[in-house]
Amino acid sequence: MRRTRIVATIGPSSSEEHILRSLLEAGVDVCRLNYSHGTPESKTGLYDRIRSMEKFLGRPTCILADLPGPKLRLGRFPGVVALERGAKLTLHCGVGEMQDASSSELPVEYAGLSAELQPGDPVLIADGLVRLVVEQTDGVPGGLVVCTVEDGGPISARKGVNVPGTMVDLPAIGPNDKAAIAHALEAGADYIAVSYVRTPEDLQPAIDAVKAAGKHVPVIAKIEHPMALERLDEILDLADAVMVARGDLGVEIPLEDVPVAQQRIIDGALERGMIVIVATQMLETMTLNPRPTRAEVSDISSAIRHGATAVMLSGETASGNYPLAAVETMAKIATAADAGFQSNDRRPSALARFVATRSVAHAGVELARLSGAARIVVATQHGNAARLVAGYRPTTPVTAVSDRIRAARRIQLLPGVESLVVEEYERGSQTMQAAVETLVRRGTIAPGDRVVAISGSPKAISGATSTVRLYKVEDDGTIRGGE
Ligand code: PEP
Repeated sequence: MRRTRIVATIGPSSSEEHILRSLLEAGVDVCRLNYSHGTPESKTGLYDRIRSMEKFLGRPTCILADLPGPKLRLGRFPGVVALERGAKLTLHCGVGEMQDASSSELPVEYAGLSAELQPGDPVLIADGLVRLVVEQTDGVPGGLVVCTVEDGGPISARKGVNVPGTMVDLPAIGPNDKAAIAHALEAGADYIAVSYVRTPEDLQPAIDAVKAAGKHVPVIAKIEHPMALERLDEILDLADAVMVARGDLGVEIPLEDVPVAQQRIIDGALERGMIVIVATQMLETMTLNPRPTRAEVSDISSAIRHGATAVMLSGETASGNYPLAAVETMAKIATAADAGFQSNDRRPSALARFVATRSVAHAGVELARLSGAARIVVATQHGNAARLVAGYRPTTPVTAVSDRIRAARRIQLLPGVESLVVEEYERGSQTMQAAVETLVRRGTIAPGDRVVAISGSPKAISGATSTVRLYKVEDDGTIRGGE
């Protein structure tokens, strides 16, 4: 079983039903919907399609809603503009659309930019492909910024604009993010990712919105700004999961510092037993080619070796020419890395939250290791007990059983854990017995296997996690007693 999870961004290249199905069958655990593109309402059909595919495949499927965040973008304009090194370019700030844009005049949506930039500041477009240097600004919002092109290239509408070193005065959660959160919660997203987190406070509006809606939707902090690295511990203490968003991070800080930051983020997450997704350009070559480079294969494998619990595809599956080949390639690399790096065993050390459940989880993981159990079965209501078990990175495969499909979907992002929806009985042992019988029927475990059951008491799922039992699967596929 592959422990490392695969997140795939769903876009024009992957939204059709037959492609979506092939991606899920090839190993996608989590579908990422990027709210930076299109209106929130334009995503409704995708949710419906993913949910009907979930029913068809009979496997809980997780949806991650990625918020636009305070990302600066060029406005809309027709066609592609070629920017040439040494040329002068005027940015029209606060302009959403410009029909007569050219290599010397381009629109930028954010009005404040002409007040915040100073002569000499860098402006990067399209993840740093194009680099400008500011010559002159109006000094007021909604004005002009005259730049010189240092590195040229082709530019099209809505490309991202980064201004490293300039503090942009935009809230982390603006009107577009609020609309995206409302839509995602209504449509049934399983995770919400907050873009451009700079401070722990930036996460709060999303956390509050989830709470106000009465939902259990974990919030992922995307680390893509240098200020977030300065306050990393506080951000990790507040977030439910974290993403190393290397696209923007690699523009905001020197590219050579990204691998070091990636490792810091992974280490901080693993100390807390958190999910950590490494994202962007993992198989970039496969956007246009059917095969990856050696370096890309090595990047994915190294990220897993260093502790990433999930790896992500962006343009490769959203708009690339080979979405299925990219997923198949990533699944093969992750499977090989999982098998080859089994000794990567990390212990959470920051015990701030869920101390009792964490300790029971730890006992269960140790019991499985020492007894050579074939499987850990953990009962979990909202997914917390499963997350804490996964945080100990057991080499024993884990099945998380819940009576809630919403929890089962979220669990799909946990490393090494598959989810199973079961009915909850009055007695915990009945629930665990029903779960084990299903696993035997599916061929996941066999008579003679040992199983470690981690559950609540007296009810397995809704009782507080308190009990660890070691069972042996009988010849008739049932479990009896508990050592
Ligand atoms: C990134 O910058 O790496 C990222 C994942 O964010 P987005 O693609 O949403 O800008």
